[in-house]
Amino acid sequence: MLDMTYIREHAELLQHTADRKGIAVSIRELLKLDASRRSLLQEVEGLRAERNRQSEAIAALVKSQRAPSGANVRNAGERGARLGNAALPGEASGAAAYEALVGEAKGKVREANAKLEALEARLTEVSAAWRSLLELVPNPVSADTPDGRSDADNVELRRVGEIPAFAFEPLDHVRLGERLGLLDLGRGVKLGGTRSYVLKGIGSRLHRAVQQLAMDVMERRGFTPLELPAVMRGEAFENTGFFPAGKDQTYALAEGDKYLIGTSEVGLVSYYAGETVNLEEPIRLAAATPCFRSEVGSAGRDVHGLYRVHQFAKVEQVVVCRGEAAESDAMLAEITANAEEILRLLELPYRVVAVCIGDMSQKTHKQYDIETWMPSRGAYGETHSSSNVLDFQARRAGIRYRDADGTLRYAHTLNNTAVATPRILIPLLENHQREDGSVYVPLALRPYMGGAAEIRTE
Ligand code: AMP
Repeated sequence: MLDMTYIREHAELLQHTADRKGIAVSIRELLKLDASRRSLLQEVEGLRAERNRQSEAIAALVKSQRAPSGANVRNAGERGARLGNAALPGEASGAAAYEALVGEAKGKVREANAKLEALEARLTEVSAAWRSLLELVPNPVSADTPDGRSDADNVELRRVGEIPAFAFEPLDHVRLGERLGLLDLGRGVKLGGTRSYVLKGIGSRLHRAVQQLAMDVMERRGFTPLELPAVMRGEAFENTGFFPAGKDQTYALAEGDKYLIGTSEVGLVSYYAGETVNLEEPIRLAAATPCFRSEVGSAGRDVHGLYRVHQFAKVEQVVVCRGEAAESDAMLAEITANAEEILRLLELPYRVVAVCIGDMSQKTHKQYDIETWMPSRGAYGETHSSSNVLDFQARRAGIRYRDADGTLRYAHTLNNTAVATPRILIPLLENHQREDGSVYVPLALRPYMGGAAEIRTE
């Protein structure tokens, strides 16, 4: 969520960003709502002050009336009025003046209350509309973000590793996995419906091996591992910008306000929500969790095999650092390098692309994707997504720190995949297959595979 002053000063840029990111939000409408909200707030505050003034006046009158001389005046006036008799002139005029003053003040309180009721209702309405637009405003992108509409417009930065040249007809991961008895798509669909799978035997081990390898790399690189809930409250998703924009991608539980996470970024960032943290050193966190995604809107896309499924496992890296561009830029390079190290250990060819504005989500300021070579696709396929969101999440989540001169500032947050499986099993099986039907196990993975140097049918 951005600051309103920033939005006012950068309205045109933000409208352009929203249009390019495909987010339906009118900044002009937001500014109009903000102006009405602020003027309503002023009116409400003015009326509340007026009501307080009148209430205080009534209290002061009543207090003076309770004083012995005043009480006599009032009693006399009241008695006279009740009996229809004229009271003593001095007393009668004092009581009448008192009644008139109190009556007038009470009238003003009633009037203020009636106006307040209507204004407060209007304010609630306008504030809700204002907030729902504000929540949709995108983060502006970095100056070096490529322009473009979709992933086809992403710009390749580098290629690493050799694409294999097979001297035989290679199989795709589904044929390979089924032949090796490690993948059972049929029973997966029987159990979970479309986009479901079962990994069996060595397949199950492979799935856990890549996660543990990635967690070990993260720990070696100074990341603290966390075991996190896979069910979280709506607030954690709002904090991180997954709600309201991506709510349709999220499975809601029948129990109120509980959702299945689509990534542990939700918890890794929200972990510090509402806190002032010490950022002398960046905070580095990692978690391996299941991830659940409805994949609404991707009907018919990537329906083959393990590429796009409803449930997968992901090791995620998150950094919380000082709100300084130079620092978060350096952290983006660091988390990207971590993912590249994991791919190097898995001996897989990949490329890094600069993601274009049209392929970015609402919160992203700068993004690199890593795409790993998938022989069955004859192309690189996205396996990692590395993003700097600046203070977009920290503002929503209220994550702050004190800078050198003691000023409270919002932190910057970043996230990247370390490994996501089973998608990574596609390049792992396909690139490392051999003519005899076996699959080579990379050296770094062997300790997690009971020492196995290859996978073959028993
Ligand atoms: P994201 O959290 O959307 O940036 O995705 C990070 C990585 O998670 C992707 O690069 C994929 O490797 C993996 N991933 C995302 N969505 C799916 C899915 N529906 N099925 C399998 N893997 C996924």
